[in-house]
Amino acid sequence: MVSMTEHQLSKTDFIQYLNCPKSLWLLQNKPSKYSHGEFTDFAKKLAAEGFMVEDQVQALVSTYPNADAYSFQEVFQTDEGLYAKADMVSKNDDGSIDLFEIKSSTSVDDKQPHNQLKDAAFQAIAATRCGKLVRNVFIVHLNKEYVREGAIDPRGLLTFADETVRVKALIPETENEIGEALAFLAEDEIDETSCTCLNLSKSRHCDSFEYFNPTIPKPSIYSLPRLSAKKRDTFVGEGRFSLDEIAVDEVTRLQQSVLKSHHANAPHINVEDIENFVSVLRYPLYHLDYETYASAIPIIDGTSPHGQFPFQFSLHVQQEDGQFEHYDFLADQPELPLRLIEKLKQSIGPIGSVVVWNKPFENTQNQNMASAYPEHADFLLDLVGRTVDLMDVFKTGYVDIKFGGSTSIKKVLPVVVPELSYEGMDVADGTAAMDAWSKMLAETDTDKRAFLRKALLEYCELDTLAMVRIFEFVLTQLKPA
Ligand code: SF4
Repeated sequence: MVSMTEHQLSKTDFIQYLNCPKSLWLLQNKPSKYSHGEFTDFAKKLAAEGFMVEDQVQALVSTYPNADAYSFQEVFQTDEGLYAKADMVSKNDDGSIDLFEIKSSTSVDDKQPHNQLKDAAFQAIAATRCGKLVRNVFIVHLNKEYVREGAIDPRGLLTFADETVRVKALIPETENEIGEALAFLAEDEIDETSCTCLNLSKSRHCDSFEYFNPTIPKPSIYSLPRLSAKKRDTFVGEGRFSLDEIAVDEVTRLQQSVLKSHHANAPHINVEDIENFVSVLRYPLYHLDYETYASAIPIIDGTSPHGQFPFQFSLHVQQEDGQFEHYDFLADQPELPLRLIEKLKQSIGPIGSVVVWNKPFENTQNQNMASAYPEHADFLLDLVGRTVDLMDVFKTGYVDIKFGGSTSIKKVLPVVVPELSYEGMDVADGTAAMDAWSKMLAETDTDKRAFLRKALLEYCELDTLAMVRIFEFVLTQLKPA
């Protein structure tokens, strides 16, 4: 028997290698230096949804007359270190096999960073090198046209995309990449003094960025919002990473606000921009926030895979004298947002601005609901027209380098209203709210259900209370102290 190589290359490793060879090298060769980052609620949700889709495939296959020909999680492991666990394999009468990759997406993704065809090509190569004859390769994904009515129908929910031709065409290229990956992983040393993400925006950096680039200061040019690739390349090429080395006239107005705050080590305030924001407001102000739900497998009749709908809102109604009242809604059963709309109609009058944080998101919900329920379209589209985005103030009106170049309410709130905080909340972000809601619906224990309900109500209420307090802070910037 040939001995196994030192490095194993799983399908996940291979995709990581294609996205960034250095990060996989660090993981395998210096695991103690590798930062795994946080396994976020969102990542957990994606993983759980993958298993749910597999369950649906298993349910479907179990109804086939030749169900015995199908197996799940079959492992193909080669002496050179390849390791592939096939989601599903079927044995054909001629001794060959068909491979099935099961995905929770609604189409076949053939682009990096999640190229599903490369996944499948890797599996086909591993299976072939284990002596199997691979005849067909399928990507099983969700059918975006499927609309749930009653129990889930796996036949309608799932799409079996025959990708044999495209996957087989990728095999020579993938074999080369596998060889390169194994050779790269076997190197004792690589250049660990920088990495290619120096030329990419912060959103593209992985958790190993600091390890490979320890001299990059914080904040840096990566804190400048919407820095163009051309300008970033210039700064990187000239070795100018510190904001101290960037002149105000080198960047856009949006970036200048962040830069000026850094240079002055103080908030940069543009009173005219704040006045412009305040001048369009009409009282009462309706500070509104939705929590929405979406899942790979629809949980409610009338919805489709990954279809998003609001299940909760919080609303603070603020009068010109500063007084405010709070209203909310939380669906206590799986339901489309009809009762939510009714409660909104009772709570929002015909006059007054609707204040949100990140207008495209809330307006998309209102527009989608207007399309789905034409009987409420006039009301919902009126809300769209009355909506203003409080976040806009923090793009150029009031910018503090302490926001880190972000305008997220989670970054702004602790700086401008430090007495309010999401810290320690049982539900502290939108994905956690989705998760808590689905758990609440499934919970049969009255106390546990009440606990989840309270956590959801508190979180959403804090979102709009935060907007009220942040708005009050904004007004103080217009008045002499
Ligand atoms: S930050 Fe560096 S290590 Fe991480 S993905 Fe980018 S290039 Fe790779």
